Amino acid sequence: MSTLAISVTDLSKKYGEQTAVSHANFEVPFGTVCGFVGPNGSGKTTTMRMLLGLISPTGGTGTILGQSINHPERYLNRVGAMIEGPAFYPALTGAENLRLLATLGGFATDQVQGLLDRVSLGDRGDSKYKTYSLGMKQRLGIAAALLPNPQLLMLDEPTNGLDPAGIQEIRELLRSLANKGTTVFISSHLLSEIEMISDSLVMLRKGKVIFAGKTHDLLMRQQPVIVAKCSDPQDLQKLLEIGDRSGHEGAIINGAVHFLAPSDWAATLNKLSFDAGITLAQLSPALPSLEDTFFEMTGDEE
Ligand code: ATP
Repeated sequence: MSTLAISVTDLSKKYGEQTAVSHANFEVPFGTVCGFVGPNGSGKTTTMRMLLGLISPTGGTGTILGQSINHPERYLNRVGAMIEGPAFYPALTGAENLRLLATLGGFATDQVQGLLDRVSLGDRGDSKYKTYSLGMKQRLGIAAALLPNPQLLMLDEPTNGLDPAGIQEIRELLRSLANKGTTVFISSHLLSEIEMISDSLVMLRKGKVIFAGKTHDLLMRQQPVIVAKCSDPQDLQKLLEIGDRSGHEGAIINGAVHFLAPSDWAATLNKLSFDAGITLAQLSPALPSLEDTFFEMTGDEE
């Protein structure tokens, strides 16, 4: 049996003349969390819709849970999805909404309370949906996606519009699901929201996959920097030259020199500056965020 929950080869989608997804290649192993990241309009929703059999690709192939995406009926009963926001009846309670969806979908209704507990809505199941916060609504959407007890969970922007606490709740929930063996494929236009829970990342830009691999490997591409500020701003240029002589390239950004160098070079820089009569007001190693690394790779301003 395949160890891959998702595998796509040259997957492409054109809307008329416009290419939404172009020759996408990536794999998602079972039991992992994969973040699907890219700016708005980069083709995430289109890809997810193809994976769920909602639209047909115009090129390429894919398999979900070992079955071709040309035959969604062979895997959809094992997939839970939340695409483009959950749709619920505002006047019904959370529990009533879930019971209704379970009945319509032919899933067991006696699991509703258990699912509400799982998404930390156990004590709010009897409140009307319209009284829920955005985070609660998203969590109810995830509970609905869990109704089929899926092996694969696909969520399109579940953290959209949430405050940091809401994002944290979703993160914890998804991590606990993955720990119990559910494969999670989650899209976001903000890498920072999902980098911490994603074992692997697929990054899209303008319909093309620009990175597909372990989050850890992306982290390894991050170049460490040392930020140094002088008491006398006129010394900045001298500091830059000191770094240059030691083989560390630097640039003056916002009144400080940013050197491309590992953190342990900070002590050497401190000594060299002192010997040159420069007093440092700040000396700190820093690692650019994955977001910065990503945008450096894509050259995207967004
Ligand atoms: P967002 O987060 O804004 O939804 P996305 O990464 O999910 O962005 P898509 O919604 O997949 O991106 O859109 C990719 C491209 O395809 C966009 O340029 C969009 O305008 C275009 N597109 C999407 N759906 C259609 C459609 N039904 N007809 C024509 N063009 C479409």
